Amino acid sequence: MRILIVEDEKQICSFLKSSLEEKCFGVDIAEDGERGSFLARTANYDLMILDNVLPKKTGLEVCREVRDKGRTVPILMLSVKSETATKVDLLNAGADDYLIKPFSLDELVARVNALLRRPAALEGDVIEIDDLVFHSANYTVSRSGQEIYLTRKECMLLAYLLRHRGFVVSRGMILEHVWNMDTDPFSNTIEAHISGLRRKIDAHGSKRLIHTVPGRGYKIDVLMR
Ligand code: CA
Repeated sequence: MRILIVEDEKQICSFLKSSLEEKCFGVDIAEDGERGSFLARTANYDLMILDNVLPKKTGLEVCREVRDKGRTVPILMLSVKSETATKVDLLNAGADDYLIKPFSLDELVARVNALLRRPAALEGDVIEIDDLVFHSANYTVSRSGQEIYLTRKECMLLAYLLRHRGFVVSRGMILEHVWNMDTDPFSNTIEAHISGLRRKIDAHGSKRLIHTVPGRGYKIDVLMR
């Protein structure tokens, strides 16, 4: 899941980025309203965290522009109590939710997860496929009862595949939703991570779970169909 943070306060940005990356989200940052609006209108983010007080454009303006463009990306707005923009203004501009600064990280993460509206299969803390068990609360993975240690990227990749279990995800989808914009689209980093993940996941199980679908992408499923 890839998140765009639009915020000019560097400290908040780097705190949010590292905290969300730890939760296995891919994170991009825009430090002003203009850049934030551009990225949100042109790239395919799963969620946007948008501060209201920004250089060049306000969060409200960005929000309106993104919605005018027909983008349905969930938007979580940040604001401070003293601002003239009211909750009603924020929601009217197209925000899905808002948080008043200062907020706790736990609350932010809870709202992010709620906005991402995970499919029912992922609502619980535990996702099981064959004998693979994935705990979404703390991102631990085991197969046949044996714990598997994944890198953060492998973990993000697995979470993304599981979210689409039974369906093919293309290289482009992975690039867009798991990696951030620093990734060189022509590098073999996705292939390398898939094979690393596959090696770890399939080492302890009797069935292969991660399948390559030639010319289309990858999918996680008990059987290759
Ligand atoms: Ca700000």
